[in-house]
Amino acid sequence: MKKIAILGSTGSIGRQALEIIASMQESFAGSIEVKALAAGAGNLDLLCEQIRLFSPELVSLPDDKSARQLMEILAAKAGTFTGKPEIVYGQAGLVACATHRDVDTVLTAVVGMLGLVPTACAIKQGKTIALANKETLVAGGSVIMPMVKQFGATIVPVDSEHSAIFQSMHGFSTKDIRQIWLTGSGGPFRTKTREEMEDAPPEAALKHPNWSMGRKITIDSATMMNKGLEIIEARWLFDIEESRIRVVVHPQSILHSAVEFVDGSIVGQMGVPDMRLPIHLALNWPRRVVQEKVPKLDLTKLATLTFEEPDFKRFPCLRLAKQVAAQDDSSACVLNAANEILVEAYLEKKIRFGEIAHFIEAVLDKHKPETNASLDDLIQIDLWARSSARELIGDSKLALAR
Ligand code: NDP
Repeated sequence: MKKIAILGSTGSIGRQALEIIASMQESFAGSIEVKALAAGAGNLDLLCEQIRLFSPELVSLPDDKSARQLMEILAAKAGTFTGKPEIVYGQAGLVACATHRDVDTVLTAVVGMLGLVPTACAIKQGKTIALANKETLVAGGSVIMPMVKQFGATIVPVDSEHSAIFQSMHGFSTKDIRQIWLTGSGGPFRTKTREEMEDAPPEAALKHPNWSMGRKITIDSATMMNKGLEIIEARWLFDIEESRIRVVVHPQSILHSAVEFVDGSIVGQMGVPDMRLPIHLALNWPRRVVQEKVPKLDLTKLATLTFEEPDFKRFPCLRLAKQVAAQDDSSACVLNAANEILVEAYLEKKIRFGEIAHFIEAVLDKHKPETNASLDDLIQIDLWARSSARELIGDSKLALAR
């Protein structure tokens, strides 16, 4: 039986993971025990319900205040719970969940740089990482991937594109590949002009045509930074140069990505656009386990699958991330941190949509790239990039500070 910790259990990925675990328990299609949950303070009622249903031994919250709040709610509902979890908090709490002695698999489903340190700690214990938190590899891939080798850990990607590449490559290595075809829907603004996007409000950017996801990744999809972050994620995950990762816009989101081998064969993975599919696979890897929750793809119902070149002029965030992916230095950490701050500022209506890329480029211009940065160096560079981004937008109090 697998024993799991979920970091970000109340978010979009975390909720879908628990839904899958519950359905596997109901159908006896294999079993996963939930040992630890970490969440933000945004939805304590949902977290309580998750504790009631899955009886984790350890639960982590962002701070002392939210931890005490949770304890009070649990105490008030004591009669309805079996067992009582230990409550921890802060980064130490996240690390405690990720390194819980009984846990073999850690699903990293928090947003942003927050995932880096707990993921690194779990890797040092040789655990399997079901990696949703792509920002960990974007900011720290140069440090994380050697650690995976050193400590015999395993990363199974949850991102649908990387799950597709991972499945397509199975049994082969990077030297067998000519290039990766990284697909992307193009997001809600795929057909908009740059002028139309310049002042687009968050309400419009949050309307993704195919996927229902958390707010940060949905805005990243609108700017196509998400695809850029995925280039960097793929670069580290599959140990392949940026020049062999080709982005292609595929509005139907049916082919989740593909690998072109040196002999010209293209092998890809298809499925309905539903994150429960890659989450289910990552939680059960290396086994294929029956799951009835996700609708199946009927090939006879597919009218057309279309593919387009991405437009780097209309989507400057994609251009910036592609440039950074080719550099292999601390610039990716800076791009990621600046993007986190600017997306938050945009959601709070402090900057315009078009300014996201503009300010990221300005922060990158100020940065002196470092090669061979350590984990501690990257944490400092991340902090520098956040404060530079805040300075640029003239507000030092933006919420995303860690
Ligand atoms: P959400 O915003 O939906 O969820 C984030 C989770 O992190 C929530 O449970 C939130 O809690 C929790 N959280 C916030 N602060 C803390 C903290 N200090 N300690 C512990 N937990 C905290 O994000 P998504 O699920 O959309 O994305 C998660 C990651 O997966 C991202 O890196 C994203 O890029 C990646 N991903 C997501 C996909 C998707 O379909 N959503 C697809 C592919 C990748 P709360 O909200 O309760 O405060």
